[in-house]
Amino acid sequence: IPPPPPTAPVGRIPGGGFSPYAGCKLFRQLPISQKTKDGLAPKYTEMSEIQRASLPHSLCGRDILGAAKTGSGKTLAFIIPVIEKLYRARWGPEDGVGSIIISPTKELAGQLFEELKTAGKHHSLSAGLLIGGRKDVDEEKRRVNSLSVLVCTPGRLLQHMDETPNFECSQLQVLVLDEADRILDAGFKMELDAIISQLPKQRQTLLFSATQTKSVKDLARLSLKDPEYISVHAES
Ligand code: ADP
Ligand code: MG
Repeated sequence: IPPPPPTAPVGRIPGGGFSPYAGCKLFRQLPISQKTKDGLAPKYTEMSEIQRASLPHSLCGRDILGAAKTGSGKTLAFIIPVIEKLYRARWGPEDGVGSIIISPTKELAGQLFEELKTAGKHHSLSAGLLIGGRKDVDEEKRRVNSLSVLVCTPGRLLQHMDETPNFECSQLQVLVLDEADRILDAGFKMELDAIISQLPKQRQTLLFSATQTKSVKDLARLSLKDPEYISVHAES
């Protein structure tokens, strides 16, 4: 992370903790690549509260447990750090899967894939949407190994882990659970445990949901390291 601009106030982040970027209100003030800024700029200028509170932490690699109501902009709060981490690492097609973003439903996965395309528009990162149903899984299997970011539902991800030859995620950098409370719920327990068991423990983990997940069991299950708890109630 480059040093903060001299004008950036140093201080407390709305969600807790300290960062030189705590006072930033605009995306362009963040320590992110120009490519990402250019992707965001036509559509997004000011950060929402959950974005302001979490991005200073997530951008320096910390694990996050973020809670904010539906419609508060949680998607960009995890998409930006995913893009930046892989961009800084110069992640390429031969590096395997760099980030996995898990969403509970096909519809939500589809929406966040669109947001990823917006923010990542000027990057050369390859990303794929892996959801059950309509898509041809054999065609997907041929492509999966060259993708850097996977946006997926738990079932389809597990199917690829089990069936796709040479599926390689041992270098995974960032794991994201969107709607984490739903994914950590009993309904996905078997699938999620099977997925987690195949992922490296050394990684950044970002959990976002509408309600705060603080179950110690869940955190142990996900091997979270000293996570920042960020809870935002009012919209900015
Ligand atoms: P959540 O996941 O918290 O329910 P989303 O990430 O789906 O919320 O965002 C909800 C809507 O707000 C989307 O249409 C998104 O494009 C928009 N949005 C997100 N962040 C911003 C922002 N900083 N400025 C303006 N609109 C935003
Ligand atoms: Mg969402």
